[in-house]
Amino acid sequence: MSKKAKIYFGSIQQGQGSAFAALAAKVDRIIELLDFSTITKRDKVAVKMHLGFAYGCQTVHVFFVRKIVKAIKEAGGYPFITDNPTAVYNAAERGYTQETCGCPIIPIAGIKDGYHYPTNIDYRNVDALDMGGVVHDADVLVDLSHSKGHACSGYGGAIKNLALGCYSGPSRWNKIHGVEQSVSYWKSADCTPEHAEALVKSCPYQALRYDAKEHKLSLLLFACRNQNCLECLRVDSEIKCLQIRPEFFAAFQELMAVAAKQVLDTFDENKRFFLNFILQVTPHCDCMGMIQPSVIPDIGVLGSRQIVAIETATLNLIAEAGLIEQTIPPYFKHVNLDPDARLHPFQRLWGPMKNPYLVTEYAEKQGLGVSDYELVEILAPEETRKMKAPKQEYERQPTFY
Ligand code: SF4
Repeated sequence: MSKKAKIYFGSIQQGQGSAFAALAAKVDRIIELLDFSTITKRDKVAVKMHLGFAYGCQTVHVFFVRKIVKAIKEAGGYPFITDNPTAVYNAAERGYTQETCGCPIIPIAGIKDGYHYPTNIDYRNVDALDMGGVVHDADVLVDLSHSKGHACSGYGGAIKNLALGCYSGPSRWNKIHGVEQSVSYWKSADCTPEHAEALVKSCPYQALRYDAKEHKLSLLLFACRNQNCLECLRVDSEIKCLQIRPEFFAAFQELMAVAAKQVLDTFDENKRFFLNFILQVTPHCDCMGMIQPSVIPDIGVLGSRQIVAIETATLNLIAEAGLIEQTIPPYFKHVNLDPDARLHPFQRLWGPMKNPYLVTEYAEKQGLGVSDYELVEILAPEETRKMKAPKQEYERQPTFY
């Protein structure tokens, strides 16, 4: 028996200029193939998605959210959308309301972020995290993700949507973001305050901060471009008190895999569904609260029952598509565009130590599934090119079609 996971893929590319061959039709088919029949009547179905923040609205479009919600209802489930309380509170600003989505939108850990379950983690400096009570209580999980870049891990998708998005704010911001500080990178006894100030000054991304009162140098995971840069190590070449180590970057990704496992463990295997939207792939994540240029060509939509495989397939498709060099923001000063360098596009942007595949490798080790997959393309352009298009409705008169 094949151990490969099945991944349904709808490409943004189409074989004809007709709706039957375009992405919406493919998403409808992917939802059918995902097979919501394992949703039991009256199951409470958590659709976990990022609802954006402030001026950041490049999340999964409400048009698709509504389709998914409708399909869950047709299967007999009671869907609700969930995300952090702030994103929920102002979701209407970005087009997400109960009326537009078709179901309630509920804060993942309650209105004051205080409804959660203590969850044992025991990884490095993180003993426990607070899992959002709303996702914990649900019967079914639809992990609906916008695939994009991420300053800490290179990539953010289905695993990150659970690992960060399903925990309370303090767990997310003070514990998960912070685990890298458990990896040593600076020998304080070898560093004078003057040298520490010189190191801070050398960094073009403000990734180093120095607290003179405490004599403490901090390296910021999200800002550091590691091997794409290394300006600090040139200044430190004689004293050698600072290290830019892979372990520092890997810790965040390993903890994401551990935290996502805890969320998934609260659901039966046949009650987990994953959809990755690889559209408007921005360099930063959706938490940044701003509209950003797409740095990868639009690719399409993936659906699967297997989280590791869907993330691996997403990363492979992004690697095949490559960066759009013209749209890389100018504040990325050290992008590696060497065609001979064997790097993923997100490593070219964020530095090789932010290897986006790490999280999938850790997730596989955690037993979250296999990375091997079979990509099943739905309504491929080569196929629809040869098909006879059905009669198309146009908005020529008020048909209200
Ligand atoms: S590697 Fe570059 S970005 Fe990272 S701390 Fe050093 S100077 Fe700053």
